[in-house]
Amino acid sequence: MANAWFRMYSEFATDPKVQMMSEADQRRFIMVLCMRCSNGDVTLQDEQVAFQLRISNEEWARTKALFLSKNLIDEDNFPLAWDKRQFLSDSSYERVKRHRAKRVESGLPQQNSIPKNLRKEVFERDENACVYCGSRDDLTIDHNLPQSRGGGDDFDNLLTACRACNAAKRDLTHDEYIERNGLVTLQKRPHIQKQIQKTDTEVNPTSLRDDPPSDSAKSKSVTLSQWIVGVHERGERLMSDYEPLTAYAEKVGLPADWVELAWLQFRDRYTTDEKCKRKRYADWRRVFKRAVEENWMKIWFYSDADKQFRLTTVGVAADLATREAA
Ligand SMILES: [Zn+2]
Repeated sequence: MANAWFRMYSEFATDPKVQMMSEADQRRFIMVLCMRCSNGDVTLQDEQVAFQLRISNEEWARTKALFLSKNLIDEDNFPLAWDKRQFLSDSSYERVKRHRAKRVESGLPQQNSIPKNLRKEVFERDENACVYCGSRDDLTIDHNLPQSRGGGDDFDNLLTACRACNAAKRDLTHDEYIERNGLVTLQKRPHIQKQIQKTDTEVNPTSLRDDPPSDSAKSKSVTLSQWIVGVHERGERLMSDYEPLTAYAEKVGLPADWVELAWLQFRDRYTTDEKCKRKRYADWRRVFKRAVEENWMKIWFYSDADKQFRLTTVGVAADLATREAA
C-alpha cells in the first residue's frame, strides 16, 4: 500500500511508559510501528527488524525484551493494541484477528489477554453490553484507566466495550470519554439510563439526544475554592487520602513530596488565576490526578540519564518557595 499510515496519539509525549525509555528506544518503537504499518500481517523476523533499525541482533534483543516487558509488542514484533492505531476498518480488524488466530494455531499464548473467567465476570457485571453505546456485538475488554497510564488488569479497572467504542475511547478513562462526548452515548445504554432515571427524575431521556444534558452534573460541579470548603466541612482530607493518586505516584516512581508540591501549585492556579478559578468540576481529586499523570504543572520531567523523575527549574523554584514559606 502506498503511503500507508497509522494513528499516533499526542499522549506519546507524556506517557510515563514511553518517557521511561531512552530516546533511542523511543525511536525504535516508532520504527517498529512504521514497519508493521508497511508490512501488513507479515510476521517480521528479528533479523529483519534489527537490519531495518541498523542495529545488531543483540541490541535488538535487548530492546525487544524492554518492549515486551512494557507490553508494547508481542513475540512476533507485532505492536499490541495495533487495531487502535488503524483507521477503523474491517480490514485492520480482520488483520489483527488473523494474526491472533495464527498465534493460537501455532500453539503460542494469546498476548495481553485477560483470563477467560475474568472476562466473563466483567461482561456479566456490565450485562453483556458496551458501557458506552449499549451494543451487544463485538464486545471487548476495555481498561478504564488505560494500561499506558498505569491501569491494571483488575476487575474494577475493566469495562465491557464494543470494538468501535474501545477504539474511539483511545487512552481516555471512562469518565473523561463521557465528559468529552456528553451523555449522548448513554442514550443507547438502557441499564445506565435506568440508573439516571432512578437518581434524577427530572432527566427526560429524550432530551439526552440534543442538549448537553449536564444540568444534573453541572449543579454538582463547583469551583476548586468551593470544593475545598466542602471537603473541610465534611472533615475529609483534600488529596492525601486519595488512593488512586498515591497508587499512581508509587507505580511510576514519583516522590510523594513532589505530588504535594504539584498540589500546592495546582491549588494556587485554580484558586487565583482568572480563567482557572472559574472552572467547575464535580470531582477535583480526579482532575488533580489527571494533572499529575499529564504533568500539567511542569514541575518534573523524566530523566533518561538517571532513569528517574527530576524537578524542572520551575519545580526547584517552587520547592524552595514552599520550604521558605514553611
Ligand atoms: Zn460501543
